[in-house]
Amino acid sequence: MTPTDPSFTQQLTTRPTPVAERQAMLANPGFGNFFTDHTAIVDFRADESGEGGWYGARLEPYGPIALDPAAAVLHYGQEIFEGMKAYRHADGSVWTFRADANAARLNRSAVRLALPQLPEELFLESLRQLVGVDVDWIPSGDGESLYLRPFMIATEAFLGVRPAREVSYRVIASPAGNYFGGEVRPVDIWVSRNYARAGRGGTGAAKAGGNYASSLAAQLEAEAHGCKQVLFLDQANDNAVEELGGMNVFFVFRDGSLVTPALSGTILEGVTRSSIIQLGRDRGLTVTERTITLEEWRGGVASGEITEVFACGTAAVITPIGRLRDGDEFIGAPDSAAGEVTMSIRTELLGIQTGVVEDTHGWLTRLV
Ligand SMILES: *Cc1c(COP(=O)(O)O)cnc(C)c1O
Repeated sequence: MTPTDPSFTQQLTTRPTPVAERQAMLANPGFGNFFTDHTAIVDFRADESGEGGWYGARLEPYGPIALDPAAAVLHYGQEIFEGMKAYRHADGSVWTFRADANAARLNRSAVRLALPQLPEELFLESLRQLVGVDVDWIPSGDGESLYLRPFMIATEAFLGVRPAREVSYRVIASPAGNYFGGEVRPVDIWVSRNYARAGRGGTGAAKAGGNYASSLAAQLEAEAHGCKQVLFLDQANDNAVEELGGMNVFFVFRDGSLVTPALSGTILEGVTRSSIIQLGRDRGLTVTERTITLEEWRGGVASGEITEVFACGTAAVITPIGRLRDGDEFIGAPDSAAGEVTMSIRTELLGIQTGVVEDTHGWLTRLV
C-alpha cells in the first residue's frame, strides 16, 4: 500500500438512475435529499504501533455501507466530515472552491478526533473521480450546485476505547438548490441558553458529527420558538457570540467595517468566513476578528451602530439574520430586509464560485 497513491479503480453502477428520474430530482433538488449514482472510497489500516496507510482507493456504486455492529463510529462517534460544492460554469467546466482549505481542515479535524490524516492529493482526486462520473447530476439553475460531502468513519470492530485502527474515508454527492429555499430572506435566530455546542478544549473547532448531534436539542428549542437556527454563546464567560449550529456570523457596522468572532478554539473556522474576511479587505473595508458579546449586539442594533448581521457557510452561502430572540426579548426589527453589504458580498462570492466574477485569489480548482 502506497499511502499517497491517488489512482482510483472504478466500479461503475450497472443500474444508473433513469434520466427522467434524475431530471425530476434536479428540477427541485432542495438540500441533501437526493444522492448521485456513485461514491468514492479510500480505506485506512494501521498496525498496533499506529503505523498505517491508505489503500483501496476506488469508485463504487452508491449504496449502503456494510459495517460490523461493533464498529467504533457507531458507539463512540469517531467521525469527521467536510462540506463543499462543485459549480458548473457557463462553458460546461466544473469547479470547486478552496478545496485545499477543506483538505487542510479535514486533517485538523482528524487530529482532534484521533483519526488518520488524508493526503491532500487523495482528497482532491476523490472529488475529481466522483464528480467526473456523476457530472450529469450537477443542477445548472441559478445558485444551484452539487454539494460534496467527504467524511471519515472509524470502522474497526472493537468496543475498547482507543482510536480505531481501521477507518474509511468516503465522499458522497447531492444536488443542491437554495438552502433556505427561494429568495434570500432574513431568518430569525434563537439564543441558546440551555445548551452549549462547544467548550474550551472540546471539539468545537473540528467538523465532527458529534457537534451536530449535540446541537439538535437546541435546534428543536429554536424551532419551538419560531426560529430557524440557533446562536451559541460563550455563556461561561462573557456571552461572547460564537456561531450558529453550522454557520459563522458577521456584523456590519455603520462605518462599513466588518466584525466576526475571533477563532477561540470553540468556533469552526469556516471557509466561507475566511473568504469573506479576504473579500472585505479587498474592498478596503476594515475586517476585525475579535470578541463581540451579546450585549454589544443588543446595544449596537439599538443605537444603529450595527446595521446588518449575517450568517455564512458553504450550504447556505450567506444568509441575512433578521431578529435575534433571547427568551422573550427580540433584538432587531421584524421583516427587516436583507442588508446591502450582506447582499453585495453574497453576490460577489457566488459570482466567483460560479465563474462570472474573476477569481483573483486562485480559489477555484477545476474538477471536470
Ligand atoms: C461547516 C461549518 C461552518 C461553515 O464552514 P464553511 O467552510 O464555510 O462551510 C460553520 N460552523 C460549523 C459548526 C460548521 O460545521
